[in-house]
Amino acid sequence: MSIYQKLVRKHLLDLKPYSSARDEYSGKEGVFLDANENPFGSVSGKNLNRYPDPYQWEIKSKLAELKGCKAENIFLGNGSDEAIDLLIKSLCEPKEEQILILPPTYGMYQVCADIQQVEVLKSNLTADFQLDLEDIDAKVGEKTKMIWICSPNNPTGNLIDSDSIKTLLEKYKEIVFVIDEAYIDFTKQASFIGLLDRYENLVVIQTFSKAWGLAGLRVGMAFAHVDLIKILNKIKYPYNLNLQSQRLILEALDNVAQKETYVDLILQERENLKAGLLPLPIVEHIYPSDSNQLLVRFKAAKSIFQTLLENKVIVRDRTNVVLCDDCLRISIGTESENQRLLEALKEIAERMK
Ligand SMILES: *Cc1c(COP(=O)(O)O)cnc(C)c1O
Repeated sequence: MSIYQKLVRKHLLDLKPYSSARDEYSGKEGVFLDANENPFGSVSGKNLNRYPDPYQWEIKSKLAELKGCKAENIFLGNGSDEAIDLLIKSLCEPKEEQILILPPTYGMYQVCADIQQVEVLKSNLTADFQLDLEDIDAKVGEKTKMIWICSPNNPTGNLIDSDSIKTLLEKYKEIVFVIDEAYIDFTKQASFIGLLDRYENLVVIQTFSKAWGLAGLRVGMAFAHVDLIKILNKIKYPYNLNLQSQRLILEALDNVAQKETYVDLILQERENLKAGLLPLPIVEHIYPSDSNQLLVRFKAAKSIFQTLLENKVIVRDRTNVVLCDDCLRISIGTESENQRLLEALKEIAERMK
């Protein structure tokens, strides 16, 4: 028995999921006449005529080793956006229950809740983008089912203090905490995955889209108590991760060193970019970053954003986001991309004199 007997939406506990042909026989050898596939081959690509493993066990067993958890604690999704969507669908009764988010933060938590007609409570981060524990206490109520914490956070780039997160995990044992670690590869800080055995109410999200450089493949991960993973598996599309993605993720997992090389490069470029931005008179503040993005407060950010666009340098306008007045979010590029940004900004600074 876990908290999920109580927390999962009742009708999902009893739901009989779709049973795919591949559920009934998991061996690799045999004459497969069970799934109405084309036995001769594929019109395009190579060897894509067979349906993929619906539960992606080969990937999960490698990942379990890499992340220090059990394969049964892993869910793989079509991007972590799928995990975000399914987590809300699993736990929150539409028009009745709520999630709490901590703006400024990643936009998808609110969008997925809105689609499901799940109410979204908000507790803004403090001025230094940390948790406001008193305000969170004031906002949390009977109907609050989940709290979404992004660390390192998007768009601010910083880590959220992990002791504060642990305090909340212990205080609210029947609220599910999702720690979105999309940017964890860029920090030295340990993942919350190591605490899964200690906190039943903990879910961790990670992705192959950022440090691994596989955004186009759409593969994300959720790590959680096995009872919650089982529900996610029940309600996902049967073959949510296509065969090509599964193959390429397996390849990537054999080359963790390449990911680490990319991380080193990006962190080096982040420091170079910071050094280039600091002396510019139009730059008012560069927020501390534990990720591959810099949140920068400018003088007249909106017009700078527009001028950059005209120069075909595209950054993210966050000026309308709470606590991000006059801020642009800059993803760390290659050396030459960052140089182009800096040159464009220098020109703008000259003209604004
Ligand atoms: C980019 C990002 C994701 C990514 O999701 P994918 O669907 O896996 O590409 C998730 N959470 C945050 C905070 C992000 O910034």
